[in-house]
Amino acid sequence: GKGIAVFTSGGDSQGMNAAVRAVVRMGMYLGCKVFFIKEGYQGMVDGCENIVEATWASVSSIIHKGGTLIGSARCAEFREQAGRLKAARNLVEKGITNLVVIGGDGSLTGANLFKQEWPELLQILLKQGKISQEQADKCKYLYIAGLVGSIDNDFCGTDMTIGTDSALHRIIEAIDAIVSTAYSHQRTFIMEVMGRHCGYLAVVTALCGEADYVFIPESPPPEDWPDKLCHNAGQRLNIIIIAEGAIDRNGQPITSEKVKQVVVDRLKQDTRITVLGHVQRGGNASAFDRLLACRMGAEAVMALMEATPETEACVISLDGNQAVRLPLMECVKRTQAVAKAMADREFELAVKLRGSR
Ligand code: ATP
Repeated sequence: GKGIAVFTSGGDSQGMNAAVRAVVRMGMYLGCKVFFIKEGYQGMVDGCENIVEATWASVSSIIHKGGTLIGSARCAEFREQAGRLKAARNLVEKGITNLVVIGGDGSLTGANLFKQEWPELLQILLKQGKISQEQADKCKYLYIAGLVGSIDNDFCGTDMTIGTDSALHRIIEAIDAIVSTAYSHQRTFIMEVMGRHCGYLAVVTALCGEADYVFIPESPPPEDWPDKLCHNAGQRLNIIIIAEGAIDRNGQPITSEKVKQVVVDRLKQDTRITVLGHVQRGGNASAFDRLLACRMGAEAVMALMEATPETEACVISLDGNQAVRLPLMECVKRTQAVAKAMADREFELAVKLRGSR
């Protein structure tokens, strides 16, 4: 059977463990040897001791858990060729040429680069005498399938990233808890949610939590937003949601503090700020995320099994209710184009590029 390695990289999200479990079990079911690479690219660079064979039982009772039990990291070395050479050598040493990477756009970009560079890396390692010709021949092709693990839902090509649904649950639980006290005490609560340059979490939770106002980066409010926010004196605002990356039309951050000042000055309301922070990434994975991760993980293994030397690196995406394989590079490029459009404050272009998926 083939050797497959699975690792998690970048920020963690709920459902990553469920995805790892699915990869291990589907791989084993199909007769492969499956390995964990601990601590993402850092583990791959550091040495073979971080690459350990998985067993059926090693992924028991992890489907629900948040975080990632095999560890994740940010790895500066992997951004340089010297680091990727070390990583390649360790994989060749273990005879592994099939990778399932679970991470955000950075992790997937790194994986794509690694695949493109693979023949060159093998040549260099051969020249340096660090691997044998036989090893190079055996490991001639690198195959990659990516899964998007992120609570932000900011990746182009998939309807939902693994972790988003669980984060929505966390945020809505918090809103529901706060609303009852907001009503009783005539207080305004400003809640800041994650998402970086993507307002998905903010918009969905604002809708589901009956928020009075929401600020997101993709659609900066009109200049007179303080008037719009407090349009009649004596009005009761209960919940205002702010995406952490919210900005005004000049690109200046709209912070919770700024919004609070407006409400206090104009409506004289007792106003509190809640920054949910890492609570959003914590806790158990929702049913949706568990199922998504199971389906994506199984599909990733299938993609690797069916890959030929001509097959591009793929990302497993949710399209409607189907798991599909899309070219990794195209999705990464489109995701980066969205980030650039956001930075250039071309919001309509950003939303268009992001599309329905
Ligand atoms: P998150 O959504 O949580 O930010 P991410 O996968 O985008 O997740 P990054 O920190 O951007 O997180 O990337 C994780 C790791 O992937 C980096 O630490 C680095 O090792 C590798 N990586 C990212 N970008 C590149 C790149 N352009 N070239 C090589 N490796 C990269």
